[in-house]
Amino acid sequence: MGSTERIRNVAKRVAKWARAGHQMVVVPSAMSGETNRLLALAKELAPPKADDAFHRELDQLAATGEQASSALLAIALQAEGMAAVSYSGWQVAIKTNSAYTKARIESIDDARVRADLAAGKVVIITGFQGVDEAGNVTTLGRGGSDTSAVAVAAAMKAQECLIYTDVDGVYTTDPRVVPEARRLKTVSFEEMLEMASLGSKVLQIRSVEFAGKYKVPLRVLSSFTPWDIDIHEEAKSGTLISFEEDENMEQAVVSGIAFNRDEAKISLLGVPDTPGIAYQILGAVAQANIEVDMIIQNVSHEGKTDFSFTVHRNDFARATDLLKSDIATKLGARQVVGDAKICKVSIVGIGMRSHVGVASKMFRALSEEGINIQMISTSEIKTSVVIDEKYMELAVRALHKAFDLDQQPA
Ligand code: ASP
Ligand code: MG
Repeated sequence: MGSTERIRNVAKRVAKWARAGHQMVVVPSAMSGETNRLLALAKELAPPKADDAFHRELDQLAATGEQASSALLAIALQAEGMAAVSYSGWQVAIKTNSAYTKARIESIDDARVRADLAAGKVVIITGFQGVDEAGNVTTLGRGGSDTSAVAVAAAMKAQECLIYTDVDGVYTTDPRVVPEARRLKTVSFEEMLEMASLGSKVLQIRSVEFAGKYKVPLRVLSSFTPWDIDIHEEAKSGTLISFEEDENMEQAVVSGIAFNRDEAKISLLGVPDTPGIAYQILGAVAQANIEVDMIIQNVSHEGKTDFSFTVHRNDFARATDLLKSDIATKLGARQVVGDAKICKVSIVGIGMRSHVGVASKMFRALSEEGINIQMISTSEIKTSVVIDEKYMELAVRALHKAFDLDQQPA
């Protein structure tokens, strides 16, 4: 939605689907760059302390981006000869809690939308926003339009939710790191959930969670294809996030490789190996509202052990300070050391459930590149390692190759 030209393209595409007999609800994002522009203005004028009152106004402000793009899209559709009406989240209403800048959708009233659809209109609903109990405008966090779209699709019991975005689907990994990365025709919902939480930025994770909860079939496809491509071809393009593990699913053991540099590692060296240690360390960290991802406790030596965990990089300084100033002395730890130059690389695939040796293949591929693994964590369908940040791209490329992800699965 970067320009009037692009909005016209969207209108023509929507009109194509509507004329093919589909009832259409469209959830636009803001025009590109608009949310950043608005938030930058607010930053210039911001008070010294970012309190609730300030966050309320941020939402009030940022929500206008989608209000503009939605109205413009309705106008462009009318110009195409389609009846169209746009609504802001509060007009629908999309009810959320009051957590400004990261609100969660609680309910959607579909009455008005259904009436418009029945009257033959295309309905446009602003992405990214809703309204709280007290009537305040709220937003859902950056990238929140994805979540709005899925939530609306769930409320309307839509046949499918098509997410048009700047990539043409979900890839085995980021093609900017591995040029041989391949677009997946289908990916299971669970894999998508892991990939989104592990750092693949294609969809806001909340939208994937929503799709899972309400079983909304989701398709990620490109907004850059010409609007007049064949509708049947378009309907099969991109990546389908599917709930059925049927024979059409690609049968690879590993479906994708995710990575991110969002974390940092903290270690407490030489803490006594006694009951309650993990609780005392991580309890204090949780008290400070800092989320912990991976955790490792080493074998003890003469009653002492080393304890490491990762936190988001934004919380790194705060967590380290907390441990140094308080916990470490209390526990008699020898030292607190931190490392922000790490990254997490993960392999994801539902095939890991039924195959053995997947993790060891991963470790072998990394060792063949001379990459040292600092931490490991696993779940049913993923294995993650923490390694030195400077080997991230090398690791991703090596794993992509080791698991034959550049090859179409048999
Ligand atoms: N406009 C909002 C943002 O830039 C929501 C979205 O695009 O999904 O984060
Ligand atoms: Mg987006």
